[in-house]
This record gives sequence, C-alpha cells and structure tokens, in this order.
Amino acid sequence: MSTPSILILAGDGIGPEAMEEVKKIMAWFDDNRGLKFDISEDLVGGAAYDAHGTPLTDETMAKAQDVDAVLLGAVGGPAYDDLDFSVKPERGLLRLRKEMDLFANLRPAQCFDALADFSSLKKELVSGLDIMIVRELTSGSYFGEPRGIFEENGERVGVNTQRYTESEIDRVARSAFELARKRDNRLCSVEKANVMESGILWREVVTKIGAEDYPDVELSHMYADNCAMQLVRTPKQFDVIVTDNLFGDILSDCAAMLTGSLGMLPSASLGVPMANGMPKAMYEPVHGSAPDIAGQGKANPSATILSFAMALRYSYGQGAEADRLEAAVEKVLADGTRTADLMQVGDGTPASTSEMGDAIIAALTASL
Ligand code: NAD
Repeated sequence: MSTPSILILAGDGIGPEAMEEVKKIMAWFDDNRGLKFDISEDLVGGAAYDAHGTPLTDETMAKAQDVDAVLLGAVGGPAYDDLDFSVKPERGLLRLRKEMDLFANLRPAQCFDALADFSSLKKELVSGLDIMIVRELTSGSYFGEPRGIFEENGERVGVNTQRYTESEIDRVARSAFELARKRDNRLCSVEKANVMESGILWREVVTKIGAEDYPDVELSHMYADNCAMQLVRTPKQFDVIVTDNLFGDILSDCAAMLTGSLGMLPSASLGVPMANGMPKAMYEPVHGSAPDIAGQGKANPSATILSFAMALRYSYGQGAEADRLEAAVEKVLADGTRTADLMQVGDGTPASTSEMGDAIIAALTASL
C-alpha cells in the first residue's frame, strides 16, 4: 500500500502556528504508531496572494485534487481586506471546496467535560454533549439561480433561490446515514417541509433512502426553527443532524457555541469517494486567522489538531488513533493545561501554543 498523502495549507495569521503543532503530532504518530504520511506543503489565502498574486494557484489546486486529504489552517487578515473580491484570501478556500466538490460539511459539537463551564448553557445541559451536524455545502440558496439584485416595478429586488435536486439530497443524506451508523445510529433530518417545496422533496428523499437502505438507523424529521429551539433547550437529544446549506450554516454555528470555545472546534468537508474508497476531503478548524493574537504564541492549536484527528478517522481509516488523539486533548484539558482562550480572569498563567501541543504529545505518549 502506498504511503497516505496529505497536503498542508497553513495559510495566514495563526494558521501556521497551529499547524506547527500538528506537524509535531504527525511526527509522533510516525515514531510511535508506524503511521507515516507523505506530507507536502503549499500556500493558500493571503500568503499565496503575497507570493503569486492569487489566493490559490492552479498548481496548488492540482495537488489538492491528487492527495488523500488536505489540512488547512486559516485564511485572511486585515492586510487583505481591501483586495478585489476575486483575489481575496477566502476565494482560495471557496475554490478548493468547489473544485473538489466537497458537498458534505461535518461539524462536530462536542463538549469536553473540563470546558462545560465555558458554555452559555447550564453545565448539566452540555456536559458530555456529542452532536454531529452534516451540512450540505455545494447547493441550496447560496448557489441557486436566479440570483441577483434586479429592478422590478420601479424598485430593486434581491433574489436568491433555494434549489435542490434529488441527487444532491441523496448524496448528503447517505453520508449522514453512514455517519450515524458509526455513532449512536440516530439521524435527525432538518428542513421546513411545512412551508418550502425544497423541504418537501428533502423529506421524501431522506425518508425513502432510510427505509430502503438504512432501516437500522433511527430516522426522525424536524423543522429547522424547532431544531434551533431544541439545540438550546436539550441539545443532548441529538446524535447526527443532516440539513441544507443555509439552515446548516446557522444551526452548526449555534451548536458549536454550546461547547464554549472557537479554539476547540474542528470540521471536515467530504466529497465523492476516490479510487481508494475514501472520500475527497479537506479538514480545517472552524476559527479564522485570529489576526489579533497571530504571531504571539497565544493561539489554541486544538481545533487544528482535532481536525487532523478527523482526517485520521475519515480519510485514513485510523479510527482508533483518532480516538487516541481526541482522548489526549481531553486529558490535557482535564489536567488543567489551558491556552488563554480557555481561561477566565484569575486562572493563572496560560499555556502557549507550543506548550499546549507538547502537553498533547505527552498525553499521547502516556496513552501507550
Ligand atoms: P477569528 O475566528 O479569526 O477570531 C475570532 C476571535 O476568536 C478572535 O478574538 C480570536 O483571537 C479568537 N480565536 C480564534 N481562533 C482562536 C484560537 N485557535 N485560539 C485562541 N483564540 C482564537 O474570526 P474573525 O476575527 O472574525 O476573522 C479574522 C480573519 O479570519 C478575517 O480575515 C476572516 O475573514 C478570516 N476567517 C477565516 C476563516 C477560515 O479561514 N476558514 C474563517 C473565519 C474567518
């Protein structure tokens, strides 16, 4: 079997600092678990713009298409705010998602017990929380035509179109059913079938797939507005949620914040299976480039490290090693090592980015 490949695109701001810690962890897996990666690195976002005048070169795009997985840091920063829309750092990220056809966005919302106090909800509501939101990422109202601002009857009208084909619903639903099978076997499909035809079709397609191909998975349906309410009322009732692009954007941010800190949140975006049976994939933390703390050793590298754990699970078939890495992060938090974003006034001295990475490596070693 060939060595699994990974393309690291560290990007801007705290992206490279957090990625240094992931590289240390990859070296640990090589030394201690015999897990070797064929690692390549390249530029994305503002860093690519500075070097090449574009946020993603064709060569980097071609490399991304060729590897088993892409691990991205973050893009953007004030230096690039006034650039033309076509070369803004975010365009690099959007090009990767679009050309790799990454249609299923996985956003786990997991609350580590040691951080339950950071949630805006009561501790008992979020302690032990473990939800996975699967958001459709390449269609729906962010892409549907017609769209634009038009003149009509002497005034302007802003138009976006919510549009889903059966095959678009089918593929994201199957990803979610498969995930549910690997977790607690429960899937909640979310739309607004009460007022939207796209929601009626969504519900029909998901119901049919469930009955025909996943009868073992407990399927439920919920309207999106109710789901928002339920997420802040009793979030632990959910296992996997599958929903469209627009509702998923909102619900995944809402669920993420139940867990307390942006510095802890990973994500995965998955596409169609490649020749090796694994999906095309890009992994990235939910947070941005955090220019306010970049270059100061203050960034929490956990979200990027946990994104690599997702890569181990979903791209490299290493679920047990992903569990090991996630448990190491949890142990470090439980032992009280914290970066500044996870501390409150009077909590003592925060760990630096590299001290956090080192503590996770020590916990990995202790797990052997
Ligand atoms: P941000 O996520 O970069 O930062 C928000 C706040 O959270 C900041 O106070 C920051 O210091 C803190 N924070 C974020 N990640 C942290 C971490 N790992 N450790 C400690 N603290 C952390 O969002 P923003 O400030 O709105 O955006 C900054 C830049 O990032 C902008 O240019 C924006 O366009 C870009 N952005 C990029 C992505 C991405 O690359 N996927 C996502 C969001 C924003």
